[in-house]
Amino acid sequence: MNDCLFCKIVKGEIPSSKVYEDDKVLAFHDIDKKAPVHVLIIPKKHVDSIAALEATDFDTVAHIMRVAQKLAEELGLSDGFRLVANTGKDGGQTVNHLHFHLLGGRSLGWPPG
Ligand code: AMP
Ligand code: ZN
Repeated sequence: MNDCLFCKIVKGEIPSSKVYEDDKVLAFHDIDKKAPVHVLIIPKKHVDSIAALEATDFDTVAHIMRVAQKLAEELGLSDGFRLVANTGKDGGQTVNHLHFHLLGGRSLGWPPG
């Protein structure tokens, strides 16, 4: 997607504060953090959202779960964390490139607003 913000971050056209990268996945600090730890984990391949995932994408999603587990440990979230993918209008998604928010470092409220 030419005009996609996160595709531009993947290509290095927009800078990001990277915390993890491999051939399939990139993780970087959210620019407007909502918790002491707020990292976004994204597939490098553009997919709009969870709703748009195709059969061939699920290996990457499983890999993202593994990266989230590893980052939560590395970032000291031993008391717990939240992994969330806002999806679509009602889900509050504002960037239409699939991303998982890894949030932690404080007690997180529930339910969301
Ligand atoms: P969502 O609202 O779930 O689609 O999440 C989009 C997230 O992207 C928000 O938490 C934003 O703060 C974050 N964001 C937007 N632009 C950037 C950027 N250039 N670098 C890092 N995070 C960003
Ligand atoms: Zn994209």
